[in-house]
Amino acid sequence: MKKRGNLLVVSGPAGVGKGTVLRSAFEKLDGMCYSISCTTREPRPNLDIDGITYYFLTKEDFATRISQNCFLEYAVVHGNFYGTPRDKVLHDLNNGLDVVLEIDVQGALMVKQKMPDAKLIFFAPPSEEELERRLRSRGTEDESTIKLRLKNARWEMNQIDKYDYKVVNDSVTNATEKFIDIVKNIRRS
Ligand code: 5GP
Repeated sequence: MKKRGNLLVVSGPAGVGKGTVLRSAFEKLDGMCYSISCTTREPRPNLDIDGITYYFLTKEDFATRISQNCFLEYAVVHGNFYGTPRDKVLHDLNNGLDVVLEIDVQGALMVKQKMPDAKLIFFAPPSEEELERRLRSRGTEDESTIKLRLKNARWEMNQIDKYDYKVVNDSVTNATEKFIDIVKNIRRS
C-alpha cells in the first residue's frame, strides 16, 4: 500500500515571496502538489487564471459550498473569502503526494485542529521594512490594500510560535534550500 502523503501548510505575510520559493522548490522535489483554493476575490489581470491560481467564485457559490461542507477550512482574508477544497486534498494525500496549502494563519490553525499531523511552515521576511518594499514593488495593490496587508502581516508575524517550522526569506536560493530541507526532514520522520 502507498504511504500517505504529508500535509504541509505554508503561511506568511503577503509579499514575503512564498510563491516564488515554493515554485523553485517544486522544481527540485518529486511527489509534491499544490491545493488550489477557492476565493471570492477579483482575479488580478494578467496574473490570475481561473482553475490554476484559484477557483474564482461568487459570494453565493462560496456560501453554497460552505453549507455543503466542501471546505477543509475557510477564512475571510483582507475582506474576501478563501477556502481549501477538502476532497481533492484528501485524494492527493491518499495517493501518496505531499500536499502544500498556501493559506493564511487562521486557516492554518484550523487545519492543525482538524488534522494534527499537518506540519505548519511559516515564511517570514528578513524585516518589516523589506516586506513593505516588496509589497509596493509588486504594484498590484492600491495604497489602502497595502496598508491593510501590512497590518495583517504584523498580526500574522505574532503567531509564528504556533508554527512547526520557520523559513526566513532573505534570498530565494537560501529559502528554497531551507524549505527543501524541511520537506526531507518531514519525509524521514
Ligand atoms: P492573495 O489574494 O494575495 O492571493 O492571498 C491572500 C491571502 O489569502 C494569503 O495570505 C493566502 O495565503 C491566503 N489564502 C489563499 N488561499 C487560502 C485558503 O484557501 N484559505 C485560507 N484560509 N487562506 C488562503
